[in-house]
Amino acid sequence: MEQTKIVLDEKEMPAKWYNIMADMPNKPAPPLHPGTKQPVGPQDLSAIFPMALIEQEVSAERWIPIPEEVLKIYALWRPTPLYRARRLESALGTPAKIYYKHEGVSPAGSHKPNTAVPQAYYNKQAGIRRIATETGAGQWGSAMAFAGGLFGLDVLVYMVKVSYHQKPYRRSAMETWGAKVLASPSGETNAGRKVLGDDPESSGSLGIAISEAVEDAATHADTNYALGSVLNHVLLHQTVIGLEAQKQFEKAGDYPDVIYGCCGGGSNLAGVSSPFVRDKIGGRKVRVVAVEPTSCPTLTKGQMRYDFGDTVGLTPLLMMYTLGHDFVPPGIHAGGLRYHGDAPLICQLYKDGLIEAEAHGQRAVFEAALTFARSEGIIPAPESAHAIKGVIDEALRCKEAKEKKTIFFNLSGHGIFDLGAYDAYLSGKLEDYAYPEEKIKEALARLPVV
Ligand SMILES: *Cc1c(COP(=O)(O)O)cnc(C)c1O
Repeated sequence: MEQTKIVLDEKEMPAKWYNIMADMPNKPAPPLHPGTKQPVGPQDLSAIFPMALIEQEVSAERWIPIPEEVLKIYALWRPTPLYRARRLESALGTPAKIYYKHEGVSPAGSHKPNTAVPQAYYNKQAGIRRIATETGAGQWGSAMAFAGGLFGLDVLVYMVKVSYHQKPYRRSAMETWGAKVLASPSGETNAGRKVLGDDPESSGSLGIAISEAVEDAATHADTNYALGSVLNHVLLHQTVIGLEAQKQFEKAGDYPDVIYGCCGGGSNLAGVSSPFVRDKIGGRKVRVVAVEPTSCPTLTKGQMRYDFGDTVGLTPLLMMYTLGHDFVPPGIHAGGLRYHGDAPLICQLYKDGLIEAEAHGQRAVFEAALTFARSEGIIPAPESAHAIKGVIDEALRCKEAKEKKTIFFNLSGHGIFDLGAYDAYLSGKLEDYAYPEEKIKEALARLPVV
């Protein structure tokens, strides 16, 4: 019988994370202090992060050992299967081979627990009792609620208000794992009160929720902040995806010609692709493509500049492709991937031509999601469906050109909590929206002067 899932034994789980910083031809520019505009030092970050994570943030070591206790928890769902998408290939009639890594098998349903667990572990080790964090669609909050609970940490999640109301079951999941959830902007922080003062009807944004969580952590000694994407240590933890995939491709006797990943802040893309980008830097032929929504076109339309990570301007300035820190995605956008910037690591790799980027409208993305669900069975997270759209286009190009390429993508999560967005698509309520160039220009004019 033909193989559908290429699986690894638990013994074959990677014991180290791969740090691409060691091999990048150009290192990303350092984060700057929002006040002094000087590079931030470890002491600037120690109010909100444990030292072990700060060390990983700045490390140039190629391999970083995964703590034993983290590996034991990873074993609850890792190694994740690599699927050969034979039914999707047939449905498309393509000669290309399509593979995907299924990160939706984690307890929270996405790749995010890969970093939530070590973040909870290092905070617990540092004597922290409480984590304040933000969540957009709810996946990061779910992952942190699950991971924090395992280590006996209290978790407070500032959840973007529009999602809080649109996705009530995510909140239920977070509360089931023991976390407390507030709709952001909330009245609990100065940042939240300021936004509500300007606009009492504000539907919130990831940037606003980050401001609230960072303020909460910075003003409570027993509390740290945790971020689900963008920062180097987060991308590092996600490399278990790509490291496993390399072993699985070896077992399958294959190697990808092109890798697709959806890109919100860049963590799942970096996780799946970093070990392959290392091969590429070493001379191997492999393309890596970031896929983003046309309503939040960070890489394809943004500019590589220093900008705040949040809306209010509390976080360090990051050198990244950005749409401006006060970017608020349009209300009709249902597909996630709404962050105004991207991981500095991903941005540097993009700038250096080691990864490519493309953007798609949400109707085409949901159409791709349906094609996938109706052939492979799994209902993908709308975010992941962006990668699927890229893959399907590539597979159809292969059909046209009669090319037998090997296409690989990361299925970053399942979409069972996102059926509201599917409902909106199926009932014809979703419209395509391209974020206007003038609005991007205006927002970029408000960027901090460095
Ligand atoms: C959070 C999330 C993303 C986007 O975040 P990245 O940091 O870009 O990976 C993508 N897919 C799923 C399922 C997510 O939960």
